[in-house]
Amino acid sequence: DNINVGFIGLGNMGAHMARNLVMAGYKVTVHDINENTMKKFSDDGIPTKHSPLEVSESSDVIITMLPSSAHVLDVYNGRNGLLANGGHLGPWLYIDSSTVDPQTSRKISMDISRCTLKEKKAYAEKPMMLDAPVSGGVPAAEAGKLTFMVGGLEEAYLAAKPLLLSMGKKAIYCGGPGNGSVAKICNNMAMAISMLGVSEAFALGQNLGIKASVLTDIVNCSSARCWSSDTYNPVPGVMMDVPSWRNYDGGFTSKLMTKDLDLAMASASGVGFKCPFGSQALEIYRKLCADGCELKDFSCAFRHYYAGKDE
Ligand code: NAD
Repeated sequence: DNINVGFIGLGNMGAHMARNLVMAGYKVTVHDINENTMKKFSDDGIPTKHSPLEVSESSDVIITMLPSSAHVLDVYNGRNGLLANGGHLGPWLYIDSSTVDPQTSRKISMDISRCTLKEKKAYAEKPMMLDAPVSGGVPAAEAGKLTFMVGGLEEAYLAAKPLLLSMGKKAIYCGGPGNGSVAKICNNMAMAISMLGVSEAFALGQNLGIKASVLTDIVNCSSARCWSSDTYNPVPGVMMDVPSWRNYDGGFTSKLMTKDLDLAMASASGVGFKCPFGSQALEIYRKLCADGCELKDFSCAFRHYYAGKDE
């Protein structure tokens, strides 16, 4: 395809995503504030630029994969940011795949809808924005098997689909601006709560004398069966090739889970909604991070409920 893609944020996830786009034949230009990261790309012959604004000058589509809301706002609205040239934009499509709160996605979408295109494009009269956060961690990013949850105009989603499917296996349209971010933070809040529920129940079971492997067999053909029990079991030794099998290394860190719960709780309070289990989960994950587990997989919460008896 002849689409020029500007990719900003070449971290654990973004670097793989950008490389998958290159492999799919897109002309990709990249930017990151980390010069070492940029050098790896320029060494491989992938053009690099020193600011988001410069990237936008040679791109039709922009993809951002940044740590959090503040970074995304900086890349869009900061000095030499994507929108720094007075509202006349080169790119016609902006896709933010960072995990951010829906309010941030909606703000940027609104900012972009107020801009115009420097040149009218066949596919778009106005610049469009999608929030398209992902599920699947670094291995899925590397293998091009991410799932994208997409919010924004449906025509933008349809135009973006081939690009998204060069980095992922699935793209699901979630509705208007911000709804991709809504889907992402709600999924992760439910995942945190179910992981804590499974952990607490298994810790109780052990304290009452049942073997974790037997309880797993029961739960997995009973009504408490869920991803945390049948695919990502938090009890060491029950399942092979999951983080609990290898001292909770690898996987989805407690730090990222804390970040996502923070976003969910901030978004909830933004609309005056209370999430008692979500806020309890956030407290537990904050404590796990403070206790030195921030780089351990989030299923290490099991140890928290097991009262540290094994340590
Ligand atoms: P990361 O911290 O590894 O990478 C972020 C990159 O952005 C870094 O290279 C950093 O230098 C760059 N950056 C920061 N500020 C910048 C700026 N102003 N301009 C340009 N570049 C800037 O993060 P990651 O693990 O790749 O995650 C990216 C996003 O994806 C996060 O929102 C995260 O929550 C989400 N996510 C991560 C995972 C995961 O397993 N790592 C899974 C799903 C979603």
